[in-house]
Amino acid sequence: MASIHSDVIIVGRGIAGLCLSVLLQRKGIEHFLVVREMQQKVMALAETLPPSALAMIQQLGLREVFESSALEKTFGYHSLWGSSQIQDINFYFQHPYNYGLKLDKQLLLGKLEGCLDSHRTVQCKDWYWKEEDRCIRVNSAEKVFDLRGRVFVDATGRKQALLRKLGIGSTVHDQQIAFSCHLPRIRHPKIKHGVFTEAFKGGWGIVSSLDQRTNVMTLYAEKGSPQSLKMREFHLWPTLLSSTQILQAFLAAEVGSSVLVSAANSICSNEIAGSDWLALGDAAIAFDPLSSHGIANAVYTAWQGAEAIEECLGSDSDLALGVYSEKLRKIFGTYLATRQRFYNIYSSYTSTQHSM
Ligand SMILES: Cc1cc2nc3c(=O)[nH]c(=O)nc-3n(C[C@H](O)[C@H](O)[C@H](O)COP(=O)(O)OP(=O)(O)OC[C@H]3O[C@@H](n4cnc5c(N)ncnc54)[C@H](O)[C@@H]3O)c2cc1C
Repeated sequence: MASIHSDVIIVGRGIAGLCLSVLLQRKGIEHFLVVREMQQKVMALAETLPPSALAMIQQLGLREVFESSALEKTFGYHSLWGSSQIQDINFYFQHPYNYGLKLDKQLLLGKLEGCLDSHRTVQCKDWYWKEEDRCIRVNSAEKVFDLRGRVFVDATGRKQALLRKLGIGSTVHDQQIAFSCHLPRIRHPKIKHGVFTEAFKGGWGIVSSLDQRTNVMTLYAEKGSPQSLKMREFHLWPTLLSSTQILQAFLAAEVGSSVLVSAANSICSNEIAGSDWLALGDAAIAFDPLSSHGIANAVYTAWQGAEAIEECLGSDSDLALGVYSEKLRKIFGTYLATRQRFYNIYSSYTSTQHSM
């Protein structure tokens, strides 16, 4: 069996995997990025990168790539969360950048890939983890071969494909699920920013403008709850949103796409790094999209992961991987406490509304 050696083997072509590949390439660290050909349904979600992440992408020399992949700059958002007053969260006073970016994710992935030397990507139909040899067996259209490395990286997002093969479990902190669909763009006189969030009994929703003609609406609820069952069917959305102050005004009779279901819960891998592997982005710690920090987390973990890998290769010790793991665990702890605060506000408000 042919086998190829490299310092690092990354699995997963998401923002985390691609950013790590770009950063390792700049450091001159030999690596391959394993990309599995997948028939995946892709829907543009008009995801937002908050202003707080721009300093980091500037520091990493990635600002130009991100800005040129933006649908538009965002200068704030509106929300109805725990109050009947619309809040205007304006980015005007944010420093050093007073705007966020609404991203065209597919364009961003293409641009990040465009930064890489072409030999870095290994396209395959499938791959397997060979525990006895601690290597990845790749099954490509032309041949089958083994990829051996000093460090293996799981950047497969919530799928945690490598972690599962290593037998590493996760702790799931909630069961939130998302339902997204494209709608004809409706403009609301009270909403001037391109992002609006509103909580309602049993769930919450967000509208984000994608382009001049399209809004993306995503509704969130606990998996298996009566609301989540209704969210699967677009024709039930008007009833579901009938008690909302603003959100229902964004519904249109005509739907631009079918409803896409995705996981949106908070998950932390039980182990984030081992002696010869580490996890990045959603594979390591996955956030509720309410935080708007999933993409920033993908970039941050790629950055910290690249530093840890460099140290590990230079010293031939796995100490830096342990430090990386602890850092992420602390971030996840802070995230959980913040999320709890937001949902406490949500619960006390929606229960008051219900009793009125
Ligand atoms: C509805 C919704 C709205 C969101 N909105 C926002 C937002 O506004 N702002 C924000 O910052 N974040 C948002 N997020 C979160 C954000 O999209 C993610 O946190 C981020 O994209 C994670 O990046 P990643 O690279 O870690 O994982 P992913 O983007 O999931 O990438 C993983 C990659 O691995 C590949 N892969 C999977 N399995 C395998 C396998 N077996 N072999 C090889 N490759 C594999 C996948 O095809 C994919 O290319 C949202 C998420 C959802 C669900």
